[in-house]
Amino acid sequence: MDEQTARREIVRVGKLMYERSYVVSSDGNVSVRLGDDRVLATPTQVNKGRMTEEMLAITDLEGKALNDRRASSELAMHLLIYRERPEVRAVCHAHPPHGSAFAVAGLAIDQPILSEVILTLGCVPLAEYGTPSTDELTDAMRPLVKHHNALLMANHGAVAYGTDLWQAFDRLETLEHTAKIAILARALGGARDLPPGSVEKLIDIRERAGYLDERGRCQACGYLHETQVVCRTGDRPPAPRASANGSGKISLTREELIELLSQAARTGAAGDF
Ligand SMILES: [Zn+2]
Repeated sequence: MDEQTARREIVRVGKLMYERSYVVSSDGNVSVRLGDDRVLATPTQVNKGRMTEEMLAITDLEGKALNDRRASSELAMHLLIYRERPEVRAVCHAHPPHGSAFAVAGLAIDQPILSEVILTLGCVPLAEYGTPSTDELTDAMRPLVKHHNALLMANHGAVAYGTDLWQAFDRLETLEHTAKIAILARALGGARDLPPGSVEKLIDIRERAGYLDERGRCQACGYLHETQVVCRTGDRPPAPRASANGSGKISLTREELIELLSQAARTGAAGDF
């Protein structure tokens, strides 16, 4: 995306975020990666509903100003995501009420209740609280960024990112919509999870269709094999680490493990792992 188009689209996204109540006052921030080492970002202290194209700041990937505008104080969160995910070209951060309610309640958006969400967004984990605009916040986010396309930040809000600005915005919107549905379902007696086995099928479809790659296998906890990251999946069990050596340890294929975890979830024995 060239700079002029990026300026225009960031202003459009800012207006949408404000009109849809994802931000109020000078909340939230949006950025687009212009080249390998330049970022176009919303300025500090500006209402996103009244922002204009010439207000936008340009920085390098370390946050150093490259024009005479001051970027948002929360730019560090965007730069972390660009560094961790080279394919990401845009980031949207906001405080959408339903998603932020999850973040304030200390909850991730990780229940398998909507098939479309598993296909297009995946699970949204909750990063521990960190003071905005400090290393505390980026340290809390860092282990989660690689495996997810949107995060909640405890007692703060939400951030979503993608290969272009509209994908980042759509993911933010899906996050908010999912949180709203989950809250409404709770008022009706509680959301019911998708039937056993269906999550694995959806993950298979989304990977074959290219919606999300293997790094996003959160509902099946597959990515835990490769990292020490703990996915905050509520009462779902942490995955046992497969091992090939003899000493009394078990060795499982991914399929076997998924089946085991699904059985555990079905029988309610999740806490036993
Ligand atoms: Zn914020």
